[in-house]
Amino acid sequence: MSSIHTVVIGAGHAGLAVSRCLTDRGVEHVVIERGRLAERWRSARWESFRMLTPNWLSRLPGWVYRGGAPDGFMTAGEFVRHMEGYAASFAAPVLDQTTVTEVRAVAGGYLVRTDRGCWTAANVVIATGYHARARVPGCAAALPVGLAQLTSAAYREPAGLPAGGVLVVGASASGVQIADELRRAGREVTLAVGRHTRLPRRYRGRDIFWWLDRVGSLDRTADELPERAHAEPSPQLSGAGRAVDLAALARRGVTLAGRLAAVERGRVRFADDLPATTAAADARLRRVLTTIDGYAGAGAGAAAMIRPATVTPGPRGLDLERAGIGTVIWATGFRPSYPWLNVPVLDGAGLLRHRRGVTAAPGLYAIGLRFQHRRSATYVDGARHDAAFLADHLAAHHLACRRA
Ligand SMILES: Cc1cc2nc3c(=O)[nH]c(=O)nc-3n(C[C@H](O)[C@H](O)[C@H](O)COP(=O)(O)OP(=O)(O)OC[C@H]3O[C@@H](n4cnc5c(N)ncnc54)[C@H](O)[C@@H]3O)c2cc1C
Repeated sequence: MSSIHTVVIGAGHAGLAVSRCLTDRGVEHVVIERGRLAERWRSARWESFRMLTPNWLSRLPGWVYRGGAPDGFMTAGEFVRHMEGYAASFAAPVLDQTTVTEVRAVAGGYLVRTDRGCWTAANVVIATGYHARARVPGCAAALPVGLAQLTSAAYREPAGLPAGGVLVVGASASGVQIADELRRAGREVTLAVGRHTRLPRRYRGRDIFWWLDRVGSLDRTADELPERAHAEPSPQLSGAGRAVDLAALARRGVTLAGRLAAVERGRVRFADDLPATTAAADARLRRVLTTIDGYAGAGAGAAAMIRPATVTPGPRGLDLERAGIGTVIWATGFRPSYPWLNVPVLDGAGLLRHRRGVTAAPGLYAIGLRFQHRRSATYVDGARHDAAFLADHLAAHHLACRRA
């Protein structure tokens, strides 16, 4: 049994950001990682993956992009190297290939059980990632047995799929990028589209993220925005230099349909909601661009010139065998998962109850949660705020305990 002040679980960018802030504050800690550093960027991204945020927007505490293409978009491998450089820059105390199997409260803190021994710690920071488990709808179980099904995290490249057409379910960043790649590889692709976010890659001569950063959109907090905004779908953008919005995909021959509503005897049924979801995305797009116009001092104009995503209502159903569909790809999002957490801090849906990453259990923290506090928490860039806040809280908590 080893004893340490703080255990951080997970060595993705969020765990490393906390580690850097704890190092700066002189807090003794270890980062326990079940795989390798930045494991999900190594094993849960497809081959052609590029980040959709520009390179400069991967700012971490004490670390910025240092390559020669700040406005470019890193591949997954490049991002892994960016993280390796970060960890090396402050000698992050990462213990890799070690899986946490249980965390429970004991006198004075927590017992952290791993497959390579136990730790006791006054504090635990959970940084195991929001994208731990793919959200696959229950109707997946009703699909024909011979049909290949995989999630966007398991997808690698078109050649890895069985022959035939592909039904991609979900039209956020992953879904549209995968649909685009498959179509360009000559596959017949149907894309089931639900609520989505449309943004132009560039606006008024700048990358859209430059504007979102400038107008403070990424800094809006969970308290300022309605609950619905906390689950914003990732934007239909790619870092590969191609438009992947619905109109562009339709032009390339992707069949667009409404939300996947049901699976019945070898047929899938789509909701009649494509016009409504595209109109709602257009309305949100217009609001974003109008804010930018206001910031740029340009008044009404450019935003008003954005054309609606005119997409014709797609098919209401698909006979999978007749349509030659060989694969269904679920790009329907992710959720966190804490099967090893034996502390009563989860709500009925299995999500952590917290305020800015501070749970009700003293000394138990989390980072990397969606909209943890600011909108930017969804992106790599947002962890710097949450990591600094948690490290300050943790250090103050430690001081208070020592004084008591
Ligand atoms: C497909 C995709 C594309 C994305 N693109 C971008 C982008 O372009 N720009 C951007 O800013 N953001 C992007 N994101 C969002 C976000 O920044 C990433 O999801 C990010 O990797 C989350 O970082 P994290 O450190 O919170 O979690 P993760 O990177 O998931 O790290 C968690 C770590 O915890 C480890 N772990 C889990 N369970 C245990 C355990 N029991 N014991 C020990 N270790 C454990 C895992 O192995 C993992 O290494 C993308 C997300 C996805 C899914």
